[in-house]
Amino acid sequence: MKEWRKNSVMKNRWPAAYKIIDELEQAGFEAFVVGGAVRDFVRNAPVNDVDITTNATPNEVKEIFMHTIDVGIEHGTVLVVLDEPIEVTTYRSESTYTDFRRPDGVTFVRTLKEDLQRRDFTINAMALTKEDELVDYFGGRQAIEEEIIQAVGNPELRFSEDALRMLRAVRFSAQLNFSLEQNTLHAIQSLHALISHVSIERVKVELEKMWLSDCPFKGMQLFVDSGLSSNFPGSWKMGLQSWNDFASFNVKANGWAFFALQQKEEVVHQLLNHFKCSNDEKRHVKNVVQAVHCLVKGAWTADELFHYSEEVLSVAYHYGKSILSNEIPDSLEEFLLRKRAIPIASKKDIVINGNDLMQWANQKRGPWIKEVLDILSHMIVNGEITNDRQEIKGWFSHEYLH
Ligand code: ATP
Ligand code: MG
Repeated sequence: MKEWRKNSVMKNRWPAAYKIIDELEQAGFEAFVVGGAVRDFVRNAPVNDVDITTNATPNEVKEIFMHTIDVGIEHGTVLVVLDEPIEVTTYRSESTYTDFRRPDGVTFVRTLKEDLQRRDFTINAMALTKEDELVDYFGGRQAIEEEIIQAVGNPELRFSEDALRMLRAVRFSAQLNFSLEQNTLHAIQSLHALISHVSIERVKVELEKMWLSDCPFKGMQLFVDSGLSSNFPGSWKMGLQSWNDFASFNVKANGWAFFALQQKEEVVHQLLNHFKCSNDEKRHVKNVVQAVHCLVKGAWTADELFHYSEEVLSVAYHYGKSILSNEIPDSLEEFLLRKRAIPIASKKDIVINGNDLMQWANQKRGPWIKEVLDILSHMIVNGEITNDRQEIKGWFSHEYLH
C-alpha cells in the first residue's frame, strides 16, 4: 500500500480519473475508482476501463463538468469526457428483483459501502481513493491473493437476484485463472437453471469473453460441471476435453467455429441462430468448419487454398490438427506458401473481366459470365493457363466461339 502511495499510481496512470475525483471532492462530494480497474490494479495487471463511483447525483455531476454525455442516467451513470470518456455512477443499490435478471429499479444510496455491497464478487467490490488507498470491506484483496471468486454476501441470494452473475463467475474464473469459492460454486450448481431467464445476447457476450480469455478450457469445464451448459441447446459435455486444444486467435467467432465442430452438422445453423450469431460470424464459422473438413479428407487442394483466407486456413489447420492428432502431412507454413504462390488472390486479379468476355463473344451480360470466370480462375489456380490476356483470349475463342 505504501509503495502505491509513494508512486501516485492513480495520478500518473489515470490522470483523467484523478482529475474527475479531485473536482468532485473539491465540490464537496466523495468519489472513488471502483470495479474492474481496482481489481486489475491490485493484481498488477493492465487495466481496461476506469469507472468512478460518487455520492453526487447525476445532475450534480453534470453541473460540475463541462462535457458530459447521458449514457444511463436512470441507472445513475453519466459519461464525463475529459481527455477520455469515463463513466461516473452515483452510489446505488439495486432494489427488488422479480425476474432473476434486472432490478425493478435503482435506488441511490448514501454510502460507498452500500454501493460496494451490491457488486457481484469480492474481487470486484473494492474502491480506490485518488491517493491510491484501497477500500476493501469484503476481503477482495485476500480473495485475489487466494485466487478465488467469491460472491459478496449470500451467493444463493445474489444469484437469485441476477442469474447472469453465475456466468460472470465462470467467465472471471477463465479470465483470471481463479477458482470458484466453495459456497459460490455450490450455489451455481443448485441454481444453474435460473440462467434461462437471462437474455441470450448477454449469455453470448460472456461465452465469448471466456473463449478470448487465457484459460478457455477452465471456463468451459466450469460451465459444464456447474450444470449451466445444460440450459442451452447443443452438445457441450461430449466435446469438453477438446477445449484443451482450443485457441481463439483473438477472434470471438473462432469460439463458435470450435463449438460448431463438436455439433452434429445438421443442427449447427440452428444453434448459431439460437445464440444470435451475426451473418458475418455464421459465414466465418461455415468457412472454418468446411476448411477443417477438407483438411480431414487429406491435404488442401489448390482450389481450397485459393478459396479460404489465410486467417481461416490458419485456424482450421489448428483445429483440424487437434481432431486428427498430428496426422496432417504438411505444415501450415507449407500450405500458406503454396497459397501465396497461386498467381491470383481472388477472381478480381484475373487480367480480363466480364466486359472483355461480352465483347469477345458479342453477347449480353448473363450467368454465363460467372461460369466462364469460375472455370478460368480454377485453371489459373491450378496452373493450367497463365493469367495473360492473349492466352486467355485464345483459350476463350477456342472453347466458346466457333
Ligand atoms: P471487465 O474487465 O470485463 O470490464 P469489470 O469488472 O469491469 O470487468 P463490468 O461488467 O465492466 O466488469 O462491470 C463493472 C463493475 O460493476 C464490476 O466490477 C462489478 O463491481 C459491477 N457489476 C457488473 N455487473 C454486475 C452484476 N451483474 N451484478 C453485480 N455487480 C456487477
Ligand atoms: Mg469494465
